[in-house]
Amino acid sequence: MRIGTPLGPDPTRVLLLGSGELGKEVAIAFQRLGVEVVAVDRYPHAPAHQVAHRWHAIDMTDHVTLATLVEQEAPDLVVPEIEAIATDALLGIEAGGTTVVPTARATKLTMDREGIRRLAAEELGVPTSPYGFADTLDEVRDAVAQVGVPCVLKPVMSSSGKGQSVLKSADSAEIDAAWEHARTGARVANPRVIVEGFVDFDYEITQLTVRHAGGTAFCEPIGHRQENGDYVESWQPQPMSDAARAAAQDVSARVTDALGGWGVFGVELFVRGDEVLFSEVSPRPHDTGLVTIATQRLTEFELHARAVLGLPVDTALRSPGASAVVYGGADLTAPAYEGVAEALAVPETDLRLFGKPTAGARRRMGVAVAGAGDVGTARARATEAAGHVRVVPGA
Ligand code: AMP
Repeated sequence: MRIGTPLGPDPTRVLLLGSGELGKEVAIAFQRLGVEVVAVDRYPHAPAHQVAHRWHAIDMTDHVTLATLVEQEAPDLVVPEIEAIATDALLGIEAGGTTVVPTARATKLTMDREGIRRLAAEELGVPTSPYGFADTLDEVRDAVAQVGVPCVLKPVMSSSGKGQSVLKSADSAEIDAAWEHARTGARVANPRVIVEGFVDFDYEITQLTVRHAGGTAFCEPIGHRQENGDYVESWQPQPMSDAARAAAQDVSARVTDALGGWGVFGVELFVRGDEVLFSEVSPRPHDTGLVTIATQRLTEFELHARAVLGLPVDTALRSPGASAVVYGGADLTAPAYEGVAEALAVPETDLRLFGKPTAGARRRMGVAVAGAGDVGTARARATEAAGHVRVVPGA
């Protein structure tokens, strides 16, 4: 492994596709290793744009636009940070000899819920909740009848809980409402949906799994709490029985081995007693893993940068910790942040403000992280700190 000089004649160049808060941390991790970072998003001044050597605002779902940019920038590595990318273009880019992280196939299989669910359940035999897919209201009714209630209906292409509903009964009014909600929350016009059996889990975790030059390494499990399908709080380590912990690592190894390549994967799992069910996987750092800023010697972002460059990793936990999300609360342009001093006065606390140009009611604008001797204290600290931060109208 040899790293060139950024902006010199022979840099080691990374093209980051997606420049949100996770991409910003990944960009900083690469910058610290002397890698040239080119950050891309659909809008200007996205978080990672602000810490990159160069940036572009383009439509990454457009095959030709994306392929043209890759040709122009000639990166050594293409590092996707989001799902909404023309993944077919990535297959061509990889075939042309540029490394796509972790692999172009992994980005394609995980960009919609169907590819990864079928791979995990049908090819690998990994335990999941029962499920069915549907393209029309009639097919949704059949899928609900087959899967049973309660169940969860989600667009196959959506994230952060968008378009997701829990069905408590098979009443046609309830099914109609869930279908309508999916149609408005999906990334595409006529969405295909997945109907999944509702899992009455004891807790859910993200098992960060690092595939690197020396093999596969696991971080301590991250517990998290979601509201309306979006993460609001996470903590590490999540206590688990030995059997559940072993099953979580086994499922994560099988799924990530099948996807291949190097990098961090966020494997989302539901745990009920000693039983572990696979939910989904991000072939990149995971939002709930922001907690690693407070807990690990190397954050998930540093682990990702190291792994994809073929460098050694260390997944050791340094301290128990927690993270809590700061939401925008309202639609604002160029907002300001108050209460930062109060937040940082909470012991062992740190803050990331993402610098997004606009805020929205449920838009994630920042995160508070905290360490402590135990997870309970860390959660209380992170939540208190996040609660001090106020997103207010700017000048
Ligand atoms: P997802 O976008 O699939 O990660 O779903 C977001 C969150 O919704 C999960 O983290 C769970 O808290 C909840 N959820 C999703 N699917 C199910 C399910 N089949 N059973 C129970 N809870 C679910």
